Amino acid sequence: MVQIIQDFIPKGRRNRPGYAMSPKYITIHDTANTQAGADAKAHARYLKSNAAAAIPASWHFTVDDRVIVQHLPLNENGWHAGDGSTGTGNRESIGIEICENRDGVRTEAEKNAAWLVAKLLKDHGLSIDRVRQHYDWSGKNCPRVLRGRKGGWQGFLAAVEAHLKTEAEITRPIGIYVDGKKADEVGYLIDNATYVRASYLIALIGGSVTGHGDHIKITLPPKADPAEIAKLKAEINGLKAMTAALEAKIENARIALS
Ligand SMILES: [Zn+2]
Repeated sequence: MVQIIQDFIPKGRRNRPGYAMSPKYITIHDTANTQAGADAKAHARYLKSNAAAAIPASWHFTVDDRVIVQHLPLNENGWHAGDGSTGTGNRESIGIEICENRDGVRTEAEKNAAWLVAKLLKDHGLSIDRVRQHYDWSGKNCPRVLRGRKGGWQGFLAAVEAHLKTEAEITRPIGIYVDGKKADEVGYLIDNATYVRASYLIALIGGSVTGHGDHIKITLPPKADPAEIAKLKAEINGLKAMTAALEAKIENARIALS
């Protein structure tokens, strides 16, 4: 896991257009900035500058060898794909820039980016074929480092795939509500499936879970016998009829007395 710092471009800036987006793709870029210090935080400062607003240029994440900075919420678009104001790259893809600063460790930045891409694919229920190069949208030679290195792009995708295949990572904890009240118990969203402790859920309906290791045994609460229910219903109806009869008698007595 890599730390993700949220440092959003302020609302109203020309490079925060704010068009609603439901991410369908992830677009990979290289920053093309080899200067020392041109790390993720430096790019966050750049995106909040007038220079970036004037272009306008923006993307969702910059990844260096230590941290990830997020510049836009994921339900808003950025201007990074070069395919126009209505282009699929600009309007439906999450833009990720991988740093090239010469004082950073590029291999670590790529590893962090692969982790982020895998996390985003899981979070949005997307498959790996939705990972695109900037080049795919506009023909620009970007991500230039991954494209320029023999097997670079395939190696990056393989690293993403490896994260997708490793043991499930918890996407986020989920609150559990019982009859409208929040329970102390917590569930988890993992790879878009919800997980809740079985013993907790079964106990809610009066059953129990025993065993551990390679098997568990679930004991459900005793089922109600339909014949028994019918008998109880008949008894209740009988009592209702009796109550009605008694009420009528009382009413009659009251009339007689008055
Ligand atoms: Zn690019």
